[in-house]
Amino acid sequence: MSQFMFVTDLDNTLVNHDTEDDKALQELNHRLSQHRQEHGSKIVYATGRSSVLYRQLAAEKKLIEPDALVVAVGTEIYINSSESVPGEDILSGKLANPKGDNCDRDWSAQIATGWNRNTVVSITDKFDELKSQPDTEQRPFKVSFFLEESASERILPKLETELQKCGLNIKLIYSSGIDLDIVPKNSDKGQAMRFLRQKWGFVAEQTVACGDSGNDIALFAAGEERGIIVGNARPELIQWHSENPADNRYLAKNICAGGILEGLKHFGFLE
Ligand SMILES: [Mg+2]
Repeated sequence: MSQFMFVTDLDNTLVNHDTEDDKALQELNHRLSQHRQEHGSKIVYATGRSSVLYRQLAAEKKLIEPDALVVAVGTEIYINSSESVPGEDILSGKLANPKGDNCDRDWSAQIATGWNRNTVVSITDKFDELKSQPDTEQRPFKVSFFLEESASERILPKLETELQKCGLNIKLIYSSGIDLDIVPKNSDKGQAMRFLRQKWGFVAEQTVACGDSGNDIALFAAGEERGIIVGNARPELIQWHSENPADNRYLAKNICAGGILEGLKHFGFLE
């Protein structure tokens, strides 16, 4: 067994919200912790949640502490440095504090080119249909709104045109028929994974990513990394997978953590 880099989405991938039965999650946690200890494997959580909402979930579901945390649609990366004091971990807010002022500076510098938050806000202010999301979801590299689906077809093209006029290097992500995020173009879960992989020196073949929905496609489309699609994946991901088949991607039969365990065995990362 050799070390590998494990990257997983949280909601409905690692964490099953439909059951109180956490047996599969506990087994996976145990196997991953052991592998990390014995072989130096790395554990990464990649989530659309902000660090605030991440900490709620981590406490509720007793998640093990990751080596790095990718939050806010890939715009922030927090690396758990070995110098951190035991006990002052993620759950107490050391790894990812709400202000985000301890996130990885190399990553921030990489996505900062062509980004200007004030310019974005000066344009979005002109659109009454955009309702600001709570302050916890407003980040240095993410401006977030609620936008009713009925208005989205009319508003999104106009907004995009206005933003493009400013020459910013950004993208709009509209999901679930309500959430609108405006973020730097070169920030997503897949690019964050590659950044960490290169930082820690893992080859793509020793890296595995797990997900269940559309915003995980960036993880699976990154390159030669191994991919595990959990058995409860959403239709948009299943459809993308069938249209873009690849040998380095595995569609699990089991759901959530059980599907991840199945996939890790399939690729030989675990016995
Ligand atoms: Mg998910």
